[in-house]
Amino acid sequence: MPVREARDWLEVIPGIGAKTSAAVLSFSRLRMPALVVDTHHQRVAQRIGIVPAKASLEKCALLLQSYIPEDWDGQRVYDAHQGYMRHGQQVCHWRSPDCSRCVVREWCDYPDKPEPA
Ligand code: SF4
Repeated sequence: MPVREARDWLEVIPGIGAKTSAAVLSFSRLRMPALVVDTHHQRVAQRIGIVPAKASLEKCALLLQSYIPEDWDGQRVYDAHQGYMRHGQQVCHWRSPDCSRCVVREWCDYPDKPEPA
């Protein structure tokens, strides 16, 4: 079953939303190329400027999934999810992003990032 079809099938079940449907397909042994997007992904994507600053979590999830190349397999999408999330947890913090340690700093639109020392 294609990812979109599988997600639509899951999301008919009461209580299953977009994040859960992606998680079931990605985190299980199915390892399908469904990108799980949480608030870490949303914050990083908004700061970098690849999604609109006021985009909802749902809109971010749709946009970020649409950027995934079609030839990426489930493991690669899962790895992208993990990298994004860890960046949000360990560097691009909600309150005070540690921009001096950021590997994507030069591409980031976040206006408050300090200049390099
Ligand atoms: S430069 Fe700063 S705000 Fe931009 S992604 Fe990196 S840590 Fe986040």
